[in-house]
Amino acid sequence: MANAPLIDPFQRPITYLRLSVTDRCDFRCTYCMAENMTFLPKKELLTLEELDRVSTAFIGLGVKKLRITGGEPLVRRDIMEYFRAMSRHLDSGALDELTLTTNGSQLDRFADDLAACGVRRINISIDTLKADKFREITRRGDLDKVLRGIDAAQKAGMRVKLNAVALKGFNEDELFEMTEWVAARDMDMTWIEVMPMGDIGNENRLDQYWPLTDLRERLAERYTITPLTERSGGPARYVRLDETGQKIGFITPLTHNFCESCNRVRLTCTGDLFMCLGQEDQADLRTPLRAHPGNDEPLVAAIREAITHKPKGHDFDYSRQRADGQVSRHMSHTGG
Ligand code: SAM
Ligand code: SF4
Repeated sequence: MANAPLIDPFQRPITYLRLSVTDRCDFRCTYCMAENMTFLPKKELLTLEELDRVSTAFIGLGVKKLRITGGEPLVRRDIMEYFRAMSRHLDSGALDELTLTTNGSQLDRFADDLAACGVRRINISIDTLKADKFREITRRGDLDKVLRGIDAAQKAGMRVKLNAVALKGFNEDELFEMTEWVAARDMDMTWIEVMPMGDIGNENRLDQYWPLTDLRERLAERYTITPLTERSGGPARYVRLDETGQKIGFITPLTHNFCESCNRVRLTCTGDLFMCLGQEDQADLRTPLRAHPGNDEPLVAAIREAITHKPKGHDFDYSRQRADGQVSRHMSHTGG
């Protein structure tokens, strides 16, 4: 039974791993990080070789989709070595999809390499199309550079999906402009409700919270919305805008419970496996990785054991006017 697939206690097959390869980032988005972040010492991070071993172990246990995230995955030194290594699993058919979520700042240099490694789809996060607002929300980002990255990704043949966090009083007024912009460039888009992750300093998350129910109603004022039944096993629900033909996703962890079909787990850049984004329960995979350099059996045993703890669901809740269910770690550590 060494290769039996991973099935959790609620009979959900675990086929999707989100892997954070670094906690570092060249941006400091206000909803994600504090201005002055202390990043982890290098020895805490899984090495590229350890990332390969642990990813390969999950793929051996039936993971079909691997999403690389961070922090900003493309600022990790030599990360292309890892992507090149993972492409062998695409070639063998063991892995269906290798993908990443990025802020796009380094994409103009890496798009061709990523495409050559078999990356077919990529998620790029942009919350505004105005350069000054972009600098404000990311505290240091250069929108033009990100737009060049999107061009490069599309030119390399990758399908681009835009991720935007819905922020009250910040990008509400750009809803239609952003929708038209992605439609004109033949991209899909997903809106994300802001989640209570980590201590980010003075920002008050309740001030930032723009419910997607409201966003969707506003979209319906201009477009005909057809709900799609397809699910990714993740938190997104999708609709199609009949006028543009675009697919729009809504990630609403706070207003909808999406846990029943959850097929995923998350591994932090330090090797902690989180069975649920909204719960603190975790399993340390770095210890078995480091204690047994030439033998992955203890690692596989630790993964199997961890999956037996995957909870039924999470309990984020803003409804009592404070961010209940708040988890203390940053999204950049767990990987969004
Ligand atoms: N740096 C990459 C990026 O920004 O795409 C990958 C990591 S980032 C943590 C992944 C996603 O999480 C981004 O789309 C980001 O907007 C989102 N995110 C970060 N903090 C969030 C929060 N508090 N609530 C909701 N989404 C958040
Ligand atoms: Fe960096 Fe992504 Fe977090 Fe922004 S959302 S600070 S780009 S990790």
